[in-house]
Amino acid sequence: MKTVEQHYDDILSLANTSPVIDVPIEKALNRVLAEDIIAHYPIPPFTNSAMDGFAVRAQDVIPGQELRVVEDIPAGCAPQVKIFPGQASRIMTGAPLPEGANSVIRVEDTIGGMENMATQAPDCVVPKISLQKNANVRHAGEDVAVGEKIFTAGTRVTPSHIAAFSAVGFATVKVHRQLNVGVVATGNELRSPGEELDFGTIPDSNSFLVSGLLFERGANVTVRSLHSDDSAHFVETIEKLVSECDLVLTTGGVSAGAFDVVKSSLRSHGVNFTKVMMQPGKPQGFGEISGVPVICLPGNPVSVYVSMYLFVLPLLNVMEGGKRIEYADLFTTSVAGTSWKHKLGRDQFVPVVESERGVVPASAGGSASHFVGSLPKATALALVPATEKWVQPGQNISILRLR
Ligand code: AMP
Ligand code: MG
Repeated sequence: MKTVEQHYDDILSLANTSPVIDVPIEKALNRVLAEDIIAHYPIPPFTNSAMDGFAVRAQDVIPGQELRVVEDIPAGCAPQVKIFPGQASRIMTGAPLPEGANSVIRVEDTIGGMENMATQAPDCVVPKISLQKNANVRHAGEDVAVGEKIFTAGTRVTPSHIAAFSAVGFATVKVHRQLNVGVVATGNELRSPGEELDFGTIPDSNSFLVSGLLFERGANVTVRSLHSDDSAHFVETIEKLVSECDLVLTTGGVSAGAFDVVKSSLRSHGVNFTKVMMQPGKPQGFGEISGVPVICLPGNPVSVYVSMYLFVLPLLNVMEGGKRIEYADLFTTSVAGTSWKHKLGRDQFVPVVESERGVVPASAGGSASHFVGSLPKATALALVPATEKWVQPGQNISILRLR
């Protein structure tokens, strides 16, 4: 039997990186940057007020001593008048600081400033406090300087990255384009959700599990839930998807059963079927058809879930332009919160809930590959090495965090 790490390396060796395209920044969400972002504008772009108040010379601000208001500066307007000793300009948050001013006194810290706040500025204002230089002033470039490299190629774009792209002057960015992924669920016994179940049939879970994990990553997903184990129909579906997609995933039909359509149909197309030293998820398939990676996952939903996190999402990450993660780096160390027995011989991946006392299996019934009902509770997969007979409370345990 193959080790999990060997299978991981085989799967990742199929990765080809998706092409680079220029997209409007709002289309860059979830994509991986293919260029470094060098600021065209500083943040903030000009020195401005952090508060609604009065732009002043701090040295003129003496409690009780009146300042003459010479201008009203709303946000978005350029000041026209310089501040001289004894003067102030009413200023709104985000408005440029006028020449001569070195600080802003908050409107709440003045007498007379609050009157007519909605309409025109008062003729004069009386400070209630004294002020330090630079008080309530946001200086140009204090967050980001022009020419500063703020993000590097390989960064996955989040909404806050997009906000920063806009702030430093980018309307478009270079990213690796969205992946098109085909998903095929096989099984004569499968039915659509809500469909009446004849004895022996079950609702399809895998289509939703796999496509949901892909949607979360921002992939463009085409799902074919076949409700059949017919080889001709299956091969036709695969050939069509391979011609349209960057990656094709199948579920079911890879074990030792008599009607294992995926295995029997794709062997002759160059897909390898192997047994991996893991539980759940022992039967696995991988290969390339017409240059497109095809990963054949087992049928049981928990096996599918574990395989998605262990193999498919790391593969996707590389194909999306992200940095390759080594197998060992998928895991962090946690502590077992309870004991459970482990069948020797295969690495066990147990959906667990992380609690104060440590990780505990998400399903009270133990870890079975069809327990899709307890899966949503899991926050991590705990790895119990093949050589370990028991997990004991308090012992260190490797976990892979979900989401
Ligand atoms: P197989 O490898 O095709 O024999 O499938 C293994 C087990 O997973 C069987 O109990 C199947 O009924 C179940 N299974 C396969 N595909 C799905 C699916 N899409 N949703 C839920 N269970 C499935
Ligand atoms: Mg089947």
